Amino acid sequence: MADLEYLTVADALALVLNGVKILEGEPAFLLEALGRVVVETVVANDSLPPFANSSMDGYALRAADVSGVTEAHPASLQVVADIAAGTAEVVTIVPGTAARIMTGAPLPQGADAVVPVEDTNEAWRDEERPLPDEILVRRAVHPGDYVRNVGEDIIAGQEVLTPGHVLRPQEIGVLAALGVSQVMVRRRPRVGILATGDELIDVDQSLTPGKIRNSNSYAQSAQVIALGAELITLGVARDTEQDVRAKLQVGLNSGVDLLVSSAGVSVGAYDVVKAVLEQEGNVGFWRVRMRPGKPLAFGTYHGVPFLGLPGNPVSAMVSFERFVRPAIRKMAGFTRLDRPSVTVTLQDQIHSDGRESYVRAIVTKSLQGYLAASTGSQGSHVMTSMVRANALVIMPEGVTVASPGETLEALMIDWPETVF
Ligand code: AMP
Ligand code: MG
Repeated sequence: MADLEYLTVADALALVLNGVKILEGEPAFLLEALGRVVVETVVANDSLPPFANSSMDGYALRAADVSGVTEAHPASLQVVADIAAGTAEVVTIVPGTAARIMTGAPLPQGADAVVPVEDTNEAWRDEERPLPDEILVRRAVHPGDYVRNVGEDIIAGQEVLTPGHVLRPQEIGVLAALGVSQVMVRRRPRVGILATGDELIDVDQSLTPGKIRNSNSYAQSAQVIALGAELITLGVARDTEQDVRAKLQVGLNSGVDLLVSSAGVSVGAYDVVKAVLEQEGNVGFWRVRMRPGKPLAFGTYHGVPFLGLPGNPVSAMVSFERFVRPAIRKMAGFTRLDRPSVTVTLQDQIHSDGRESYVRAIVTKSLQGYLAASTGSQGSHVMTSMVRANALVIMPEGVTVASPGETLEALMIDWPETVF
């Protein structure tokens, strides 16, 4: 790859996505499968509901026995059984009789409807209450009323999920209802996170002159975990080629699918990540026409896809959003790789140097649509404007100023109601 290519964001993203492949499938237990992509067609072995049952606490009866009854002219039925949920009473409802029945209990033979307990003279929902000999029904019901039929939801043999479907809690619930305890899903990408720099100390260390705490390792690790990928922590490499090599080797030994580093990829005297990758990798060093961002390395290190992010914390986070996140989602089998975007109306004036800019903003919903306000200083080291943001407003390449009232697209990192 050519050194220091100037690329648009779209071209860089296309190259990155082209360089990673969709991972294979593996069986996973239901809760391990949450958030992952199904790779098989799931066919129901059972119908849901598996048997006709009552949707109310009440009395199972024959609708014909209570047709035309009213409050003033109730019908009297003999109570012949008491059917609780989880039981399978063998009882037949003949004309003139009814069975007390609880929600979810199987509808007895001969019955074709349920009258809710509220519409009888036994208006008391209590399983402890002795079974009455007879009841008065005060409201007519039609055949099928308050009955949940076999297969109303799913018929045995039906395709319930097809490849590509993302498993959310509702899919997990359906699989459990169908007796599917394991499902074939895409493997979680194993992502190695490496920070580099002699200035870095860990979170629990006190500041000393010239040192800063390593925030990138934590931020990028959190980004990996938030994606449902598997985090492989590679620690901090000092600015020596030997240490960078050693730390990357730990990643290779752990079988990572993707290596992500921060810092050391620009043109500083101690940018040793670049030196190591030039010797042992097949990595291109790009200048992406993007703000924040710009330096980005992408290629393979000993055959494993490698992405080198800029060192400044916001540049690293935004570059992760723009390039690493879609790459990980592709590997995990998702078809939708980007964050959702909405059209926003600007609340204040924003600036750019003409590179495609990702402006940290807070997007709110109003009767006029989505509004975006900048969250303040857009310096690539200013983390608090990221903390206040729920979106990145995109200023297209070539645009240097956008004014209040203008509309732009915003990548939604979070929806307004979920964070603030
Ligand atoms: P570099 O790309 O190595 O020139 O780093 C660019 C800037 O990012 C410098 O100000 C670094 O101190 C800072 N930086 C690099 N790595 C980290 C990190 N892990 N956490 C916080 N800041 C970092
Ligand atoms: Mg450095």
